[in-house]
Amino acid sequence: MKGSKRSSDNLKNLIYEAIRMRGMRLTPQRMAIVNHIVGNRNHPSADEIFNIIKENYPTISKATIYSTLELLVELGYIDKIVFQDNREARFDGNPEPHAHFICTKCGKIYDFHNLNLTDQINSLEKKGYRVNKTQIYIYGVCRECQEKEKLF
Ligand SMILES: [Zn+2]
Ligand SMILES: [Zn+2]
Repeated sequence: MKGSKRSSDNLKNLIYEAIRMRGMRLTPQRMAIVNHIVGNRNHPSADEIFNIIKENYPTISKATIYSTLELLVELGYIDKIVFQDNREARFDGNPEPHAHFICTKCGKIYDFHNLNLTDQINSLEKKGYRVNKTQIYIYGVCRECQEKEKLF
């Protein structure tokens, strides 16, 4: 869902407020983390986020990155993608229900919205189930990696 600049500012202000309500200090570092991850469709790992935020805030600690990300997950503004194997968790700036295609070669994660997920969730809820979280992972090799395979 693409909102206007204004509505994404509103969302960020809501999140800043929620962080304050949790008794966390709203530092420029935490604001930078919120700005980086909310709405981000690249599914970065905590380490990737750390490296980007560090460019502008060299003193930031990994603990601040983790605690802020976990809080955003808990508040429902972002999702955490956890894998069965030892792969590092990724963070999804889009908490709307959607499916993921995960490339086992390059590790890239692609969003899929064209499944009738919302319909399925609605029909489950009509039957009295309560849906808290949706996770659909499809593993395979992405088109870019298949192109590279062809070169060898
Ligand atoms: Zn790939
Ligand atoms: Zn996603």
